[in-house]
Amino acid sequence: NKTENQILVIFGASGDLTARKLVPALFNLYLAGQLPENFVVLGASRSDMTDNAFRNKVVLESTYLKTKIKEHSDDYIKAFANKFFYEDLGGSYDTDYGRLRKRVEDLKNKYQTSGNIIYYLSTPPTLYETIAQRLADAGMSTQNNGWKRMIVEKPFGYSLETAKQLNQGLQQFFEEHQIYRIDHYLGKETVQNLLVTRFANSIFEPLWNRNYIHHVEITNAESVGVEKRGGYYDKSGALRDMFQNHLLQIVSLIVMEPPISDAPEDIRNEKVKALKSLRVMKDEKELFDNTIRAQYTSSVIDGEPVKGYREEEGVDKNSTTETYAAIKFFVDNWRWKDTPFYVRTAKRMPTKVTEVVIHFKTPHHQVFQESGLDNKDNKLVIRIQPDEGILIKFGVKVPGQGFKVERANLDFYYSSLAETHVMEAYERLLLDAMQGDATLYARADEVEAAWEFVDPILKYWESGKDVRMYGYAAGVWGPENSNELIDGIGEWRNPGAS
Ligand code: NAP
Repeated sequence: NKTENQILVIFGASGDLTARKLVPALFNLYLAGQLPENFVVLGASRSDMTDNAFRNKVVLESTYLKTKIKEHSDDYIKAFANKFFYEDLGGSYDTDYGRLRKRVEDLKNKYQTSGNIIYYLSTPPTLYETIAQRLADAGMSTQNNGWKRMIVEKPFGYSLETAKQLNQGLQQFFEEHQIYRIDHYLGKETVQNLLVTRFANSIFEPLWNRNYIHHVEITNAESVGVEKRGGYYDKSGALRDMFQNHLLQIVSLIVMEPPISDAPEDIRNEKVKALKSLRVMKDEKELFDNTIRAQYTSSVIDGEPVKGYREEEGVDKNSTTETYAAIKFFVDNWRWKDTPFYVRTAKRMPTKVTEVVIHFKTPHHQVFQESGLDNKDNKLVIRIQPDEGILIKFGVKVPGQGFKVERANLDFYYSSLAETHVMEAYERLLLDAMQGDATLYARADEVEAAWEFVDPILKYWESGKDVRMYGYAAGVWGPENSNELIDGIGEWRNPGAS
């Protein structure tokens, strides 16, 4: 795909995300020769900075680029740094963008970038609508002299209502096809590979339904706690921070019907349909029975004392924000009727891992009575991170007399493709937006469909009614009661175990 000449304008360019993710992603694209011939980045924030100060901050003196920079000549690095410019907004994002517009025009003329522009909103989300409006006011959203696209960062709303408000707010000033909602999980190769595993093979899809799949399990575990983001996290929690966006994106790729092609709208249409088919929990009993939340408590890990969630900096001493969330749900459609899905996400788990486990049903008739296996199901384990790969677990005969069955693994690891450069999520997603490919970006109706499912759970949890809130010692696989959800079905597969 050809990447047209363009300007990337980053709002909130003085912030963490720009230095830590966006500029390193651009650097990788530069190394790979994938930036357009005529391309500049204009950083914009309230902070006062010169072009040179910005170049030093995000490129030349960046801790995130230090090692890579050393591998290249000064001229080569300078040529990259010289693509960066900075314009302050004079103290507020809610201001006249006339000066910004002039700067963009000047850069466009000087560097022949054409009128194509991406606006990357890397500010607190409360500013998104203001920035969209100010851009529109300044005539910077019109497409008659080159396309205009806008990338927005999560969170996309705080609830169903605020998500709708945000979508409507942005759509007043930009058309939906111009808006790219980034979910960096979709930039991961292994997440995209869910589509390929399902739809480029004939060995999985015929079994991918209620007739053969017993249940689906998804785990997202982080070993770290809230680190320095206690204040932010306490207003968010596991369900908003991970489940509503990243995990439901994974769910949609597992649940969706085959798209008719790989065109962005064909794939996105199927994902929306999938999310709309999740059974929304309505009454309190259903919400009580199918959701568990918990907080990590103080503990000792590897000889080091670890704080409990409520003792973390920035966290309310009486906080009821969950750091562990486990949800059981069903999908009301032809393919998945009555097949339970179990999804959990948490901080301060024994390890960092994200994986999907498809548990297949046991054969209808057990021929080998003395198989010796406790748990006879076949499993397909899709490891999203780390050790990205796929594992199939199946029964083989133990050599010797009789028919004793043992479980064996067929596996594939991405690391075996050592020659291939696996793009970082932000690198891949930025390049897609630069090329106008929205496949891996969330559409407004997709975000709202995900919120339709999550909103009642949050409302119930926040209602203060008879809600389960457990504790778990930092460093274990969640509260003791976490198996209540999955009882009678099996137990959580605690990754690391084979
Ligand atoms: P940040 O460092 O807190 O903020 C980015 C910039 O926004 C700041 O440099 C600041 O620039 C401006 N800003 C901050 N607070 C403001 C306020 N109250 N009023 C006006 N301007 C303010 O944020 P970030 O970590 O770069 O993240 C940017 C966006 O990406 C956020 O929406 C975040 O939710 C999202 N996100 C970040 C990450 C991450 O890893 N960091 C991951 C996922 C999503 P000036 O003061 O110079 O204007």
